[in-house]
Amino acid sequence: MLTAHAYAATSATGPLTPVTVERRDVGPHDVLIEIKYCGICHSDIHNVRGEWGSAAYPLVPGHEIAGIVTEVGSEVTRHAVGDRVGVGCMVDSCRTCAPCRRGEEQYCLEGTTLTYGSVDRDGTLTQGGYSTHMVVTEDFVVAVPEGIGLDEAAPLLCAGVTTYSPLRRWGAGPGSRVAVIGLGGLGHMAVKLAHAMGAEVTVLSQSLKKMDDGLRLGADHYHATSDPETFEKLVGSFDLIVNTVSAKLDLDAYLSLVAVGGAMVNVGAPAEPLSISVFSLIMQGRSYAGSLIGGIAETQEMLDFCAEHGLGAEVEVIPAEKINEAYEQVMASDARYRFVIDTSTLG
Ligand code: NAP
Ligand code: ZN
Ligand code: ZN
Repeated sequence: MLTAHAYAATSATGPLTPVTVERRDVGPHDVLIEIKYCGICHSDIHNVRGEWGSAAYPLVPGHEIAGIVTEVGSEVTRHAVGDRVGVGCMVDSCRTCAPCRRGEEQYCLEGTTLTYGSVDRDGTLTQGGYSTHMVVTEDFVVAVPEGIGLDEAAPLLCAGVTTYSPLRRWGAGPGSRVAVIGLGGLGHMAVKLAHAMGAEVTVLSQSLKKMDDGLRLGADHYHATSDPETFEKLVGSFDLIVNTVSAKLDLDAYLSLVAVGGAMVNVGAPAEPLSISVFSLIMQGRSYAGSLIGGIAETQEMLDFCAEHGLGAEVEVIPAEKINEAYEQVMASDARYRFVIDTSTLG
């Protein structure tokens, strides 16, 4: 066993505080990772605050993990000591069900093993990446290509793949008009990725505060959703809308912006139920869908795509003692655009 330094939530309301966690011995198919950076995803906040249902405490969040392999098990073939690697939202799955076999481990019918807050195969609760080390089965560890810094790579493991996957599935590319709702961690990656895929990209943000950034990140257009005119002038303008918002929205208003036969895909995961009038869908043949992260092979594909296009996340690296402050800033839609913890400061 290895004792790792970490930060954990001990209740739904209190601050995260320093703890230690035990990592299992490196098994034949495991790799030991010295974590260098871990991103702060809004899902961490939903989870630790019990917004998605009660959590088991102490809970070490973090599923945007980048680091270096420091030990490998006897049977490991995919990774070697010294490799730059990443771990996202999953650390295992059944590997035999239909979704697992087609590379959609996130939809494992047995329930994928999440990086934190899931019961692991040995019966212990998984603990995430706000931590100095972790042990992960090699198949759920991906390679971070040279050319992407580990700090800017970390958020790609969740925010990157969660936006890459629906953009690919719904055909973002030259000639398609893509809108992104919310310029936060996921939203800023959606803008970069959709732009790199060749789509015409529009940001729909609450205000124009982040407009210069949005245009610099690759958006062609930027509109404030607080301005009612936005909804009048953009009716039927988009082939695909990716909704990254962490709070409840008036979906009918946004669906009116989808072109005939187009789609809106929800990746944002607010705790409150959302409602839709079926007329928003049937009158223009629109679709509304959800999407959960992406599979392991797709995560590797996304990292390789980012390396090829010179993309990484726009990050603000923080020491551990700033985690609680960063949570408040994320809650206020004020992350620019992903806080990433320097794990050398964890203790
Ligand atoms: P984030 O950095 O906080 O970004 C969310 C953005 O949504 C904010 O920056 C803000 O953008 C906008 N927003 C926030 N509150 C709003 C409100 N009341 N009305 C309108 N817009 C609002 O969060 P994130 O880390 O990108 O995560 C976003 C959501 O995706 C979370 O719910 C998270 O749990 C979920 N998520 C889902 C998956 C998945 O697999 N489906 C994976 C990761 C995360 P503006 O300031 O530009 O308006
Ligand atoms: Zn996440
Ligand atoms: Zn499965």
